[in-house]
Amino acid sequence: MKGSISTPKLPEFQLCTGCRACNDICPKRAIVIKTDKYGFFYPEIDENICIKCGKCEMTCPIQSPPKFVNEIREAYLGRNKNEDVVFQSSSGGAFSAIISAWKADSVCGVRWDGFKAVNDIGRTSDEIQKFSKSKYILSNTNNIYIRAAEELKLGKKIVFSGTPCQVAAFKNIIGDNNNVLFIDIVCHGAPSSLFLEMHLKELEAKKGKKLKQWTFRDKTKIDGKISSRSARIDYLDGTWEHFEINQDAFLQMYYNRIAYRESCGNCIFAKPDRISDITICDAHHIEELYPDMSVEKGASAILIHSKKGEEVLPEIKKRMIFYKVDYDWAVEHNKQLIEPTSLHPKTNLFYQAIDSGIEFEKAVSMATHRSLFERAIGFIKRKI
Ligand SMILES: Cc1cc2nc3c(=O)[nH]c(=O)nc-3n(C[C@H](O)[C@H](O)[C@H](O)COP(=O)(O)OP(=O)(O)OC[C@H]3O[C@@H](n4cnc5c(N)ncnc54)[C@H](O)[C@@H]3O)c2cc1C
Ligand code: SF4
Ligand code: SF4
Ligand code: SF4
Repeated sequence: MKGSISTPKLPEFQLCTGCRACNDICPKRAIVIKTDKYGFFYPEIDENICIKCGKCEMTCPIQSPPKFVNEIREAYLGRNKNEDVVFQSSSGGAFSAIISAWKADSVCGVRWDGFKAVNDIGRTSDEIQKFSKSKYILSNTNNIYIRAAEELKLGKKIVFSGTPCQVAAFKNIIGDNNNVLFIDIVCHGAPSSLFLEMHLKELEAKKGKKLKQWTFRDKTKIDGKISSRSARIDYLDGTWEHFEINQDAFLQMYYNRIAYRESCGNCIFAKPDRISDITICDAHHIEELYPDMSVEKGASAILIHSKKGEEVLPEIKKRMIFYKVDYDWAVEHNKQLIEPTSLHPKTNLFYQAIDSGIEFEKAVSMATHRSLFERAIGFIKRKI
């Protein structure tokens, strides 16, 4: 779909991903990003300022999705050779291996800003290090598209990483530029940062001490085991704690897919065909092929779609132990490469509880509580 001279049509809230690219691109600053009561971004156009140039429609990844890249279709599974990198990464450290293989001047990724997630540009190794580990909340893209385009104008070689909707938006802005390696992260969606902040405020009050940092997927061994559904909290007094999913309300909310953005349940990018040069994700079920590896210990899948992506393979190989596998095998073993997430059916109950002033932890337990009848139905479905 191309831009029009009529009033621009941006997607309805249920489809808008909150990627904010329309706001970045508008030449008249006619788009204001609003935040709803659950912390989700949504653009509003001031029709008195809008000149109907259609740039926002052409940039929007939902109104104008870029073409899928189908030059190459290869899949690899493995882990970074550097164990410290694996420990500091969410999966197997593929992201770190790829950015050093591409020898980027600047890397676009997502870092923490307090307990919110923001897209930013890293140029030094310390800045780039902050992108490691998934922040399982929706990020504020914070003018990243315009800032990344500026890097290109300066002649820099960049990596642009993000959720598929963010990568698609940037691709709509700059086209298939040879100085950019597009990396999309397989994504099943996320809630807004508002609920993480709410949770951490309650935790702070309960523990009686100030929080410094929250980290998803803490790979600290507990009773000799690493769990991929975990988190670590660091307190300002220097102490820290590790949480497993059964010990933390936010992890329960996240892994039960409660209060995700609605667009994530309708995601048009949850497909085997991708819009990037390289897709990275967890290598689910890797142990079926390579028994000494697992997602818990840290394992990545790398899917290559373009010649540009293929060119960095020899350099990635120097940094990772990895094996070529059938592309369809990789797809079949990662649900988010096939279809969008099913949002939790009791999300509305969770919102109603929050609206009525019930505390976060209680609201999560109300939404995740299953009656005997629901458990029996679940049991029968699993058996079938
Ligand atoms: C919201 C979200 C949902 C995900 N869902 C799945 C899934 O369903 N299945 C699956 O296999 N993998 C999923 N992933 C990807 C997985 O968690 C790892 O991020 C990925 O495998 C890269 O790990 P790594 O070890 O190579 O790199 P790491 O070094 O851990 O790199 C993390 C990468 O993620 C980026 N990032 C971190 N937080 C965000 C964010 N909020 N938004 C955009 N980019 C971010 C960083 O910029 C960096 O590029 C998801 C990631 C996110 C952020
Ligand atoms: S049509 Fe042009 S001026 Fe109007 S909101 Fe979209 S980008 Fe801005
Ligand atoms: S560009 Fe992004 S924020 Fe703007 S309407 Fe489209 S999906 Fe929503
Ligand atoms: S699930 Fe789709 S719409 Fe939601 S953040 Fe991920 S890529 Fe964007």
